Amino acid sequence: MAEASDHADNTKICSHCDRAIPSSNIDLHYAHCSRNLEKCKICDDMVPRKHAEEHYSSTHAPVSCSLCNEMMEREILAVHKGEKCPKRIVTCDYCEFPLPAIDLSEHQEVCGNRTELCHLCNRYIRLRERVSHEVTCNGVPNNMAEIPRGIREAEREHAARRPPPPPPQDISTRRLLFTIAITGIAILIGYFISRENQTSDN
Ligand SMILES: [Zn+2]
Ligand SMILES: [Zn+2]
Ligand SMILES: [Zn+2]
Ligand SMILES: [Zn+2]
Ligand SMILES: [Zn+2]
Repeated sequence: MAEASDHADNTKICSHCDRAIPSSNIDLHYAHCSRNLEKCKICDDMVPRKHAEEHYSSTHAPVSCSLCNEMMEREILAVHKGEKCPKRIVTCDYCEFPLPAIDLSEHQEVCGNRTELCHLCNRYIRLRERVSHEVTCNGVPNNMAEIPRGIREAEREHAARRPPPPPPQDISTRRLLFTIAITGIAILIGYFISRENQTSDN
């Protein structure tokens, strides 16, 4: 029989599910409730007895991460995959290359040591120092002595690898035109002089 306690005017509390049930229905409800439903020990929800196992496996059973196969509580899976999983894909701060989180620090160790020319102060700056450099860069090329040794070497190496600037293409053309012009003027002058000589001879 329903061990129902008095509640408001027209309702009683079902002792099985703790819900308020209209007084007129309480016996019928309790019979049905106690036979068919059970309280989940984990979430306190009332679930049908025959689906209790299904409820557990679909709601509370540990799941495995599809990336790293680690078993964990279902509730933390999303956070795990987004922020914790060692196999989640992240991008390098310096080159934006996507790679598994577990390989990131090793990659960035190397990647952040690469240097890039700062076009303001004309110095080679390590990528890992680029952000702080951009804040403090005064745009004045500093004297070499203040540049850390490693960077100076990298810079020298870089300069050595750089091919010599190609000669300006149009120099020979310009010289040729100049020669033609000079020759033309010389011929004209010669022509006038010889004509003048002819007229004065006559
Ligand atoms: Zn009930
Ligand atoms: Zn539950
Ligand atoms: Zn994982
Ligand atoms: Zn990188
Ligand atoms: Zn700079």
